[in-house]
Amino acid sequence: MKVFAKLVSIVCFWMLSSINIMAQESDLYIFAGGMLDVETEQIEKNVLVTIKGNKILDVKTNPDLSTLKNYLDLSDYTLLPGLIDCHTHLVGNWYLENEGFDVYTLPAATYGILGTVNAKKTLEAGFTTVRDLHSYFYGDVALRDAINKGWIIGPRMYVSGPALTITGGHGAFGNWLSPQIEFSDNLVSIADGVDEVRKETRKHLKYRVDWIKVFATGGFGSYGTKPGAASYTIEELKAAVDEANKRGIKVAAHAHGAEGIKNALRAGATSIEHATFLDDEAIALLLQQKAYLSMDLLSAYFELIEKNEDFSGKDLDGNNSEMFASILETFSKAYKKGVKMVFATDAGIYPHGRNAEQFSFMKKAGMTEIDIIKSATITAAELLGVKDQLGSIDKNKLADIIAVKGNPLSDIKLLETIPFVMKDGKIYKHEK
Ligand SMILES: [Zn+2]
Repeated sequence: MKVFAKLVSIVCFWMLSSINIMAQESDLYIFAGGMLDVETEQIEKNVLVTIKGNKILDVKTNPDLSTLKNYLDLSDYTLLPGLIDCHTHLVGNWYLENEGFDVYTLPAATYGILGTVNAKKTLEAGFTTVRDLHSYFYGDVALRDAINKGWIIGPRMYVSGPALTITGGHGAFGNWLSPQIEFSDNLVSIADGVDEVRKETRKHLKYRVDWIKVFATGGFGSYGTKPGAASYTIEELKAAVDEANKRGIKVAAHAHGAEGIKNALRAGATSIEHATFLDDEAIALLLQQKAYLSMDLLSAYFELIEKNEDFSGKDLDGNNSEMFASILETFSKAYKKGVKMVFATDAGIYPHGRNAEQFSFMKKAGMTEIDIIKSATITAAELLGVKDQLGSIDKNKLADIIAVKGNPLSDIKLLETIPFVMKDGKIYKHEK
């Protein structure tokens, strides 16, 4: 009996120590002078992050470094979770319209090639995840798959495929052509009425999208549409939401005008994109439905101020500076009322890789640094339904980590040039 007990204890000791050895095995240790914990909203000092494969195995403060053979010394840096942009078009370069980014002449493959370049720029800017809302030819699905397979580098992508729009609606090419010219359109998803909306939504699901996007109002960049005017009816929007939800997929609604915003929210959309003419009733609905507001300030700045586009007749009052000021005011109002705000820039309208420039505009609109960072990390992960995997530097989450020199809570502009980028446990950028 004694021998048996001894054997059991030896076996148990061996099992425990081998489990211990397994737990100790790691691919990488990162020691950092600081780490922003987006949940406690504090910067922890002297942090050791243990990474195994693509995951964070452990996070602890004030470690005994003398026990480690090797570690990556980032003692001059503050770690943050990888950033998330909730509205991009990695397969879109509309800012090159005057240089030939033109659907009438470019082959579909060109979009894919541009997408690979844009994906790399976005990742190197510190954005380790994006929600990509609308592309031609399912270029976003192809790009997502190529990144996931490791063929090219880029952020983790959640994609929608082409957005649904009404005949003559936002994004519908050929709005300016005469009726005698037949225009075959696979650049956007034209669907009218409940049945067509259901069919188009099902088609996108067949081609493996992660989100459904609908154009619930007109848009600024489309010929003949009014951004302030609603397009789809609530019934049509409900059909898209119903088909998507059956498969556990959510709907993002492009909506500038208040009526379109309310239609989309009443139909069950999860996020409202742009929201230029958001009114008090729409803010109340956002709060009531616990929906997310995804307002792109950088693309508005790019078009109105940097490019000085002519938006007369597009429902906005005043000159371009006044129009931009009113967009900041709307953002500020929604934030102060407690709407869930996610970081979203509409990359592709402005040059890719400049995403982080939006942080300063959010600050200008009165958002605190911590709330700005949360909108691009933990709140964005919540919108995507992946809060258990992304959005903070925590045990068992994916190892998406960026680092800056200094304190981003006192200088948000530090995020505009990020020297260290890790996604899925792999380092993609490390500038000293
Ligand atoms: Zn967009």
